[in-house]
Amino acid sequence: MKSVKHWINGALTDGGGRTAEVFNPATGEVSGHVALASAAEVDAAVAAAVAAFPAWRDASLVRRAQVLFRFRELMDAHRDELAALISAEHGKVHSDALGEVARGLEVVEFACGIPHLLKGGFSEGVSTRVDSYSMRQPLGVVAGITPFNFPAMVPMWMFPVAIACGNAFVLKPSERDPSASLLMARLWREAGLPDGVFSVVQGDKVAVDRLLEHPDVAAVSFVGSTPIARYVYETGSRHGKRVQALGGAKNHMLVLPDADLDLVADAAVSAGFGSAGERCMAISVVLAVDPVGDELVGKIVERVGRLVVGPGDDPRSEMGPLVTRAHRDKVASYLDLGVAEGAKLVVDGREVEVLGGRVEGFWLGPSVLDQVPVGSRTHTEEIFGPVLSVVRVS
Ligand code: NAD
Repeated sequence: MKSVKHWINGALTDGGGRTAEVFNPATGEVSGHVALASAAEVDAAVAAAVAAFPAWRDASLVRRAQVLFRFRELMDAHRDELAALISAEHGKVHSDALGEVARGLEVVEFACGIPHLLKGGFSEGVSTRVDSYSMRQPLGVVAGITPFNFPAMVPMWMFPVAIACGNAFVLKPSERDPSASLLMARLWREAGLPDGVFSVVQGDKVAVDRLLEHPDVAAVSFVGSTPIARYVYETGSRHGKRVQALGGAKNHMLVLPDADLDLVADAAVSAGFGSAGERCMAISVVLAVDPVGDELVGKIVERVGRLVVGPGDDPRSEMGPLVTRAHRDKVASYLDLGVAEGAKLVVDGREVEVLGGRVEGFWLGPSVLDQVPVGSRTHTEEIFGPVLSVVRVS
């Protein structure tokens, strides 16, 4: 059974006490335990970052770019390993996991251009004998708090640019799929990043709260659900930090009467059920403008019936399980709720057949609710799972 630790000052660090279970969503089994940081453990990571910051800030742009390039090469070489770690804890199929690694790598590649990106500006004679110039400088220690659904990509939205700019970065990944963060930490070290410039504190609200209050953390970047985004934004701002906080979504696909319905059905199925709908950009609602509804729903149902549901590490699988049992049960509860609110359940994912006949994992097949009433909870709340709602509009 694995034990997922922190990464502080360039080394794996045991947690002091509390832990949480990490699951294999395809089997439902506990695959390990992740440390949940105390405030003191967060303080240790921040102290290491504070100590590492001055030398990293003073490292030349060329030197920083060299580390970025090496990190890029190492990440590229470890794509499969990283994707396998993601599948094993998140549940998404290997091709989806590889896709998220590729998207994250694009940001690393962008950050390799830091000598150019950090250029400032100079304006001569903005007033009599007054020139004006601007430059871009690191803030110091900055933190990232990230969601379960992209355990590699979302951290890579944040840390490549922050580190390339000369900041020291502390990552608090999701406790549900924490292992990808440690592989990335090890690769940073191999790439030559000085110890303390990138740290990982595993944990939950205790770790988040300490980061939000810590006087040495200058800025926080958050991605996750809207209520927590609001909390992080308000709490971090109150403590004088720069905060960016990205929340959840309920994406609508508007289908006009002259649309090519085969193309629409293909797109709705891949955008609705890719990564089991656990994507902030998942299509959750299809707005079918009269008279296309019946024909479109028929085409979607036909395609959904062909989707192969199975474990992430089986190359035949097109959709994997959900991340935890609690999340699967919450998502499935919207099927009964939708019916109670007046929708028609035209595909019930609770009856799904899983490759290999598995039943123990956190499975819910692709589900379709038709004629979902506008303004109902099913229509307005972020379900964050494989449930596609069709709303008919005139
Ligand atoms: P979440 O809000 O539950 O968790 C996000 C992070 O906040 C995790 O690190 C978690 O440990 C921490 N956290 C959870 N509860 C907390 C609390 N009470 N106090 C302090 N910290 C807390 O989100 P999730 O379920 O991991 O991720 C899914 C959500 O993320 C969805 O709503 C999805 O739309 C959103 N998301 C948004 C984007 C975007 O770009 N806007 C991208 C990916 C995911």
